Amino acid sequence: MNMTFPDLLRCEKFLVVPGQMLLKDGPVAGLAAVVSAGRFLRIGPADQLRAQFAHLPPVDLPDHLLMPGLIDAHTHLTQSLGKALAFGEPSEIFRRIWVPMEASLRPEAAYLSTKLASLEALRGGFTTVVDAGTRSESGLDAVAQAVRDVGIRCVLAMICNDLHHPAGDAAFDAIAPEAGRHLLRYENDALIAPSLAISIPEVATDRMLTHVAGLAREAGRIFQTHANEHLVAVERSLVARGKRPIELLASVGALNAGTLLAHATLLTPHELHLVRNSGAAIAYNPVASAWKGNAVLNAVLLRVEGIPFALGTDGTRYDAFRLMDAAETAQRLTHGLATGDSSCGGGWMWLDHASHLGAQAVGLGSLTGSIEEGKAADFLLVDLSVPEMQPSWDLTWELVRLADRSQIDAVVVNGALRLWQGWPIDWNARTLLAEVRRMAREDIAHAPIQRVHPVAVDHRQQWSRQPNG
Ligand SMILES: [Zn+2]
Repeated sequence: MNMTFPDLLRCEKFLVVPGQMLLKDGPVAGLAAVVSAGRFLRIGPADQLRAQFAHLPPVDLPDHLLMPGLIDAHTHLTQSLGKALAFGEPSEIFRRIWVPMEASLRPEAAYLSTKLASLEALRGGFTTVVDAGTRSESGLDAVAQAVRDVGIRCVLAMICNDLHHPAGDAAFDAIAPEAGRHLLRYENDALIAPSLAISIPEVATDRMLTHVAGLAREAGRIFQTHANEHLVAVERSLVARGKRPIELLASVGALNAGTLLAHATLLTPHELHLVRNSGAAIAYNPVASAWKGNAVLNAVLLRVEGIPFALGTDGTRYDAFRLMDAAETAQRLTHGLATGDSSCGGGWMWLDHASHLGAQAVGLGSLTGSIEEGKAADFLLVDLSVPEMQPSWDLTWELVRLADRSQIDAVVVNGALRLWQGWPIDWNARTLLAEVRRMAREDIAHAPIQRVHPVAVDHRQQWSRQPNG
């Protein structure tokens, strides 16, 4: 029987011989990879591996690039049913849309929205997503189940906000043991890495901030929080606590090498200094800045200062190639134009920080993010034989500026083929989409969401009614 490539990629052990392989220093031709038990068992010259593993029929893909699956360092998996509700909204979307929407999600809806987001992420070239924690009560188990069913790698945070909590002063004692249990529950999970989160620093007591940052660090996990994203958030922190968010984190010992700050776009020189000295990492979310932000992080400066950073979608759209493109474009428009810097990271910076350096920043550097022996086999097979990518002069930069997710023929996570040409091979995604549409009609349409921007069709009409519209 002739086995097809998807059949071969579903075997427990297989040999892939791509035209090129993307290593940390760039693309290399003539290499092959043997995957076994979820890991890269061998990476080496194709001729050698063909001879040594002659019993494995090779997956020969001379027009394809084998590259690491990319990392989405900051997202909210349970917000996917509302992704198109936030367009045009001013910055504090979480108050008017995300909190009311997520709070109304039943476990079934949390499951479906996570499944949808995870599928979108795989289709977009992400094999790892870092979830900042759901606000859906009882949603965490549903999120974990959906992530496993889709087969994506996930850093899964439990939210530990103890201020304004229904339990009042008893909140700390209720939440702290739960946080410890969350870290233990996923300690040895193949796909889920546990994490702890505080939504924004000013919604936790000093005691809780210190506790969860310390607990995560001790366990070798990351502590996540949104920091210095919007002007209003900085001002709220100053009013409530007398300090800007990052200053507050530093003052209570919650800024350490296990801390992952989402956004950090409004960094003062003093805060930049605090972050650099602490070893904390930052999730740079350029599409979130474009759609709802007050500023764009100077990521090239972070690189120069040695501050670890990764790229995140913040749930805007799960498309890794467009994210890298946005990362570069946002730098160029906000920092590069003013200084005449036409390089703005030379292309490679965005690819590295979406792959191996991104994995490092989210605490998974020894597990994923690069094609190396011993690491998890989290990879993409990308078809380079398309008009947009020919002729090739600078493949690294072409991946950032020219590549498209439609070129991703295979997505493999932990050695398991999850998608072939964009669709799952072992479950029915069309059924999921029908369920999502039903859920949107029944649940989301009735959530107490307040939008201040009309949909485009209504907005156009409003314009046409104005004088000179
Ligand atoms: Zn976020």
